Amino acid sequence: MDDLAPPPTTAAPTTAAIAENLTRVRDRIAIAAAAAGRQPTDITLVAVSKTKPAEAVRAALAAGQRIFGENRVQEAAGKFPGLRSDYPDLKLHLIGGLQTNKARDAVRLAEVIETLDRPRLADAIAAAIEKEGRTPTLLIEVNVGNEGQKSGIPRADADGFINDCKSRFGAALAGLMCVPPLDEDPRPHFTWLADRAARHGLPVVSMGMSADFDIAIACGATWVRVGSAIFGSR
Ligand SMILES: *Cc1c(COP(=O)(O)O)cnc(C)c1O
Repeated sequence: MDDLAPPPTTAAPTTAAIAENLTRVRDRIAIAAAAAGRQPTDITLVAVSKTKPAEAVRAALAAGQRIFGENRVQEAAGKFPGLRSDYPDLKLHLIGGLQTNKARDAVRLAEVIETLDRPRLADAIAAAIEKEGRTPTLLIEVNVGNEGQKSGIPRADADGFINDCKSRFGAALAGLMCVPPLDEDPRPHFTWLADRAARHGLPVVSMGMSADFDIAIACGATWVRVGSAIFGSR
């Protein structure tokens, strides 16, 4: 992920429209949870605000949303400190591929890093935790489709990496995350991820975006990451 170029800021809907979109997404979560025999409170909504201005995040905060996802450290660093001073209970998740040289900023800035995906990044995050005296919650991203250009640990290496990270980070390692291939049925990928988390006793399964979060909930997602259905297209 190129973190050097400034991210383009894209237009966001009005404050009222963002509040309405949030209500609609929360309703869809409740319906999908009920259909799966689960409680809506078992599902955490991560509102993905990448490329959207701080005012859009503010609109979601005013509507009660507190958990946000960003994919670039620099963009998050520009947007969130100001919002945090007004909303101290805000939680920031980093959901984009993370460069090792951004690990320290990531550890300083975020409550959750969802994209731990290789041993060298684990080293960098461990060093950053030591230096910052602050331990974010960590998820391992799995490249469930084994796609060439995609971040995430390959499926075949997942068990070994999960075990290493468990012994290294303890309970800070909370679960697994994935983004399945765009052009495939996500179900087998979602099911594989939920099963893998269960086998390792990891409580969090982060999967599902605007187009497929209902399916992800049916397959066992505990966190869904929803951007465009809340903040408009990018
Ligand atoms: C952008 C993004 C999302 C949200 O995608 P939408 O389709 O806008 O809901 C979720 N997860 C990751 C990793 C993303 O980069």
